Amino acid sequence: MDWRTKLLDPAPFARRDYTSLATPVYRGSTVVFENQAAVSDSWQQAEHGYSYGLYGTPTTLELSARIADLEGARHSFIVPGGQAAIALVYLSYCRAGGHALIPISAYGPNKDMAEGLMANFGVEVERYDPMIGSGISDLIRENTQLIWCESPGSVTMEIQDVPAIVTAAHARGVPVALDNTYAAGVYFDAFAHGVDVSMQALTKYIGGHSDLLLGSVSVRDEAGYAQMGPIYRQLGLAVSPDDCSLALRGLQTLAVRLDRLEQSTLEVSKWLDENNFVETVNHPALPSCAGHDIWKRDFTGSTSVFSFVFKDSVTGAQAITFLDALRLFKIGLSWGGVNSLAVVYPQVDRPDTDYGGRLVRLNIGLENPRDLIDDLAQALAVIRSSI
Ligand SMILES: *Cc1c(COP(=O)(O)O)cnc(C)c1O
Repeated sequence: MDWRTKLLDPAPFARRDYTSLATPVYRGSTVVFENQAAVSDSWQQAEHGYSYGLYGTPTTLELSARIADLEGARHSFIVPGGQAAIALVYLSYCRAGGHALIPISAYGPNKDMAEGLMANFGVEVERYDPMIGSGISDLIRENTQLIWCESPGSVTMEIQDVPAIVTAAHARGVPVALDNTYAAGVYFDAFAHGVDVSMQALTKYIGGHSDLLLGSVSVRDEAGYAQMGPIYRQLGLAVSPDDCSLALRGLQTLAVRLDRLEQSTLEVSKWLDENNFVETVNHPALPSCAGHDIWKRDFTGSTSVFSFVFKDSVTGAQAITFLDALRLFKIGLSWGGVNSLAVVYPQVDRPDTDYGGRLVRLNIGLENPRDLIDDLAQALAVIRSSI
């Protein structure tokens, strides 16, 4: 054969029987079939065999199976990010003319999708008080197709009574989806608490190092799998096997990272709770957090993200001065990685509370918590000198 052809159709030189301890990265779009009769085109590759890289490679499906196993799901769909996971849930359960419910404390881009794409598609997404519990019954309509929960809520950290919401929803045949990112899919057992669909941004704790974007949508049962699978296929939510490989690596250290993050975050949040400048700390494991008792009842741990609110005596401008004075804490969005992050939310969209730019969200990383506390103290000293 011409050397040019040899480049494209080489004899398989290296042995293929390498049993690596780590999951190999399979890159690939096309799957080679044995013969024409073996050609298939199924997104259900776990059941029917491989047909096309879009529906997963062995690397992707290994991650999918491990997430499903951790969460006790029938199946976990791996998608390009947490926001894509949210989109897959909406598009799988909502139809034109329908109605859905979302807590006011939900992740901002989820609410943006509710008011953007979903409204354009003729789905009315109504906001509800995250602390509503069984009172959600009064909001369920004939055409309600989906109820979202997110517990704790984004930024303000309200813990929801998910079992009470599930009971009310199921009494009317409405499925419940949970954004379970805070609990990394492990500190809150979504399916044991009756949830139908549990999604998380793998970007956060599973990735764990701020170097990838991925999401998962886990369905409890066969009905959820059958409902979501075709939508997943139609949307073409391909993910990179390299990112999946990093997420598989992240899983190996998830337990030790979560242990350390929980302890450090408690240490820092308790220190802030006793500080004279601080009005309230919104950390699920502290009694000052809305829904703390529900957290004690339903969760088996807390993680690294929380917020605090400065007292009235501190202005919004001083909160920004404080933030800019931090050295070890980086200013940035997202969370769940190894670095501590801080950000001020100048406008928190909550109907009955005006935080006046005094709310700061922190993510605690793997630095020594004493150093983090020293950093907070020196930044607070900068404000003190300006009061
Ligand atoms: C970050 C986040 C998402 C979105 O995840 P991306 O991977 O950044 O798209 C969804 N829900 C919650 C609660 C999040 O914090």
